[in-house]
Amino acid sequence: MSIETAEVVIVGGGIEGAAVAWSLSQRGIGDVVVVERNTVGSGMTGKSSGIVRCHYGVSSLAAMAAISLEVFEKAHEIFGHDIGFRQIGYVVGVGEENADNLRKSLAAQREVGVQTEEIDKSEVAKLWPCADLGPFGAFGWEARGGYGDAYQTAQAMMVAARAVGIRLRQGATAARLLLAGDGVSGVALADGTEIHADVVVVAAGAWTSPFLAQYGITVPIAVHRAQIVLVAPGIALEAAPVFSDLVSLQYIRPEPDGDILFGNSDHAELDIADPDRYLNRADEAFLDLAVTKIGTRFPGLGAASVSGSYAGCYDVTPDWNPVISLCDIDGLIIAAGFSGHGFKIAPAVGRLVSDLIIDGRANDPRTPETDFRLSRFAENKPLKTRFPYVGAGEMR
Ligand SMILES: Cc1cc2nc3c(=O)[nH]c(=O)nc-3n(C[C@H](O)[C@H](O)[C@H](O)COP(=O)(O)OP(=O)(O)OC[C@H]3O[C@@H](n4cnc5c(N)ncnc54)[C@H](O)[C@@H]3O)c2cc1C
Repeated sequence: MSIETAEVVIVGGGIEGAAVAWSLSQRGIGDVVVVERNTVGSGMTGKSSGIVRCHYGVSSLAAMAAISLEVFEKAHEIFGHDIGFRQIGYVVGVGEENADNLRKSLAAQREVGVQTEEIDKSEVAKLWPCADLGPFGAFGWEARGGYGDAYQTAQAMMVAARAVGIRLRQGATAARLLLAGDGVSGVALADGTEIHADVVVVAAGAWTSPFLAQYGITVPIAVHRAQIVLVAPGIALEAAPVFSDLVSLQYIRPEPDGDILFGNSDHAELDIADPDRYLNRADEAFLDLAVTKIGTRFPGLGAASVSGSYAGCYDVTPDWNPVISLCDIDGLIIAAGFSGHGFKIAPAVGRLVSDLIIDGRANDPRTPETDFRLSRFAENKPLKTRFPYVGAGEMR
């Protein structure tokens, strides 16, 4: 049996594990090992739609998205190359019944530093001329929004972290935690290697709950299959931004190759899945749904055709917000349950976790660690949006 030591071990090399490693490396903590059972970004990070927006009615999440946006915008300066961020703008539309809450949410977002405003239907019509905008009551606009590439971003963070000494072990499965007294003392890998460390961060996405259940830690995460459909629009989309349609509950955005990426925003019913064995394409019912939703909202796309599909899994908590938390085992930190929005906030997640490691609390008052504590579920105090949209509540 080989034994290594480190200051921090991170379990999981998805975007969150990479962001934690990168943030620690930036703050002078380089004695870190990331263990990833497969390869960096090979989990749900590789499936992300990558939408970047700050439109959240939970102020701490809006702030995390705003903090992270600065990293995406400065990617060339920080990482030395393109990481796939395309700042094409983000528009969100709601029905009349939700217009008041949209305006209140925009105002609250501005209070934590988000650059966002209401725009007129006529402006949206110029951006998406093929859309039927009749049923909308109000629109929010983020000129600095768009979409990124979660896979490339995770790679860039990990490369930058490794450049200053952080160690990455791919093909390395964490089999169990090592415990000493009331605290964690490291991780044992499936090959018998022990990595001794006083701090362990579990950022294992959809695999987090079963990994921690063996220690009596309940992280309430449901694994939900999220299907994506790609559509050849049949026309050039010119300057189309990401469009979050909260009337018919869909999001669409252009792909770099000219296709449209479609995702469903109706999460009223979860499609529970096994993250190691799920159907990696859209099923017939979902294709019908996609065609109906796109056809209804975008009548100008008459020549569109389906060009592909795939699926990934969201790790969904009961309030659709993440767990970024210390817990009953000293030195153990959980960063999981990102519920379908873990890409756009990842750099801020890295910062918050490194705050917890270094200072035991968040340094940015806009992102209090208490918001994301695991115990909120047992306390029955879920983290909820202050401005819910009727019929579209979960993710905004
Ligand atoms: C279809 C889809 C669309 C999405 N769209 C968006 C979007 O538009 N915008 C947005 O912000 N977010 C989006 N998300 C969410 C976002 O992609 C995820 O929240 C984020 O990628 C999760 O990253 P993670 O690091 O927590 O998990 P993962 O990327 O799944 O990483 C976890 C890693 O842990 C590893 N692992 C597990 N168990 C072990 C173990 N025992 N030992 C070692 N390694 C282990 C896995 O191999 C995996 O690589 C989307 C997600 C999906 C599925």
